[in-house]
Amino acid sequence: MIVGTLDSKKVSLRWRRTKIIATIGPATDSAKNIDALIKAGVNVFRLNMSHGDHDGHRAVFKKIRRCADKSGTTIAILMDLCGPKIRAGKFEDSSIHLKKNQKVIISCNKGIGHEGLIISQYRQLYKDIEPKQRILLDDGNMECRVESVDGKEIVCKVIYGGELKDNKGINLPDSMVSAASFTAKDKKDVQLAMALDADFVALSFVRTAKDIQSLQRYMRKTGKELPVIAKIERPEAVVNLDDIIDAAYGIMIARGDLGIELPAEEVPLIQKEIIDKARANHRPVIVATQMMESMITNARPTRAEVGDVANAAISSSDAVMLSAETAVGKYPVKTVKMMDKILREIERHQWNTGNFGDVIDGVEKASSSRKAIAHAANTLARDLKLQGIIVPTRSGHTAVVISASRPSSPLLGVSTHMHTCQKLSLHWGIIPFLIKKGEASNWEALSQDVSKRCNLTKTGNRVLFVSGFNDNEELNEPVLKIIKVKV
Ligand code: PGA
Ligand code: MN
Repeated sequence: MIVGTLDSKKVSLRWRRTKIIATIGPATDSAKNIDALIKAGVNVFRLNMSHGDHDGHRAVFKKIRRCADKSGTTIAILMDLCGPKIRAGKFEDSSIHLKKNQKVIISCNKGIGHEGLIISQYRQLYKDIEPKQRILLDDGNMECRVESVDGKEIVCKVIYGGELKDNKGINLPDSMVSAASFTAKDKKDVQLAMALDADFVALSFVRTAKDIQSLQRYMRKTGKELPVIAKIERPEAVVNLDDIIDAAYGIMIARGDLGIELPAEEVPLIQKEIIDKARANHRPVIVATQMMESMITNARPTRAEVGDVANAAISSSDAVMLSAETAVGKYPVKTVKMMDKILREIERHQWNTGNFGDVIDGVEKASSSRKAIAHAANTLARDLKLQGIIVPTRSGHTAVVISASRPSSPLLGVSTHMHTCQKLSLHWGIIPFLIKKGEASNWEALSQDVSKRCNLTKTGNRVLFVSGFNDNEELNEPVLKIIKVKV
């Protein structure tokens, strides 16, 4: 499959197809850094509500919008709700050391931690845990075993030690957590996301489709329903995957927690399955966490990390995500540049072979006219070597369905709505293109104009125009038109 084209001419694609998400944090929250990250190739910024306060998030949010505006790049913002993520609190000296066999108390009382005492931000933890169960700290880097539960204090023995910093995650792989999926804090955070008009909200530790629906219902009742990205990081979510995919706008494979909650060796195949299923249902899918982990402190990624990013592109995920690498790392911009290079190398090869993703069930099985047209658009563009696919789209849906068939020609999602353009910037291969209201009425003129402004006529002069979809199948009168661009 791979052989034959590896030595083909090194011409990089003008547009990278796999999108990059970067988490903003103290290492990157200045306008200067945001500018540099946009220039390096970030498509979506993530604000992690697990850290920081509303004033801080509001300020960063506005900075991102201003920087995006100034740069003329379409950038989306995803606000990530913590869900029932269990976290340790703060420490007097911002970290403590856990030594093997040491006794440590995890307390559900309010307070501040110190050597030998960890505060749990989740006040019910003592109810969910029993002696002999494991408590993992900081993405599983440290492990304790429960010896006894004394009122609201859990007495543990350290099995694997290390340095535990402020606010690190706690995982309970041996017990069912009773906390609701959409918490009181999430409600406050989603109010902020709606007030700021974020492009996406992500919900952590989703267990069933109901978790997504209660968030959606809450948004509808109190403001505006934003697209929800379901983070798959609990074993129950893997079991309920089909329903969750159905309910959510998109999916994040949150490998950080998933690899602790489940045996880590199960994650790679689950990742592949989630990508294929999400794509078959036109849901954008994000591969997240530890992709370039070593670049938090090193200027070069490990070869295994390069392989991981490459694998996400080979298996055709919509986006790859950076967390601590850009939030607190030493080399945020370098990391994005490196990721961009890896993705482009894979995509250059995929483009040369004419195959941007395996044919998977569902995408090619045309069960709706949108899917059939997407399939036809893909085939036409590839076989006739068309210079671009131009899709005027109000909600973005038509462009999204075509993106799921992973066409080889650049896919222009043209919209008069800034929000639609921002949303499309998460999706595989879609180049969002904002136009003014009146510009959408004449297809011919629109296609000519967009093709010229995007300089699509470098190596040929024909583009494919796709339009005429309606959410009501009865009213569908899709049009596929091959248009000659007049240069
Ligand atoms: P987090 O989610 O960074 O919010 O924990 C991602 C993950 O768990 O992989
Ligand atoms: Mn997580």
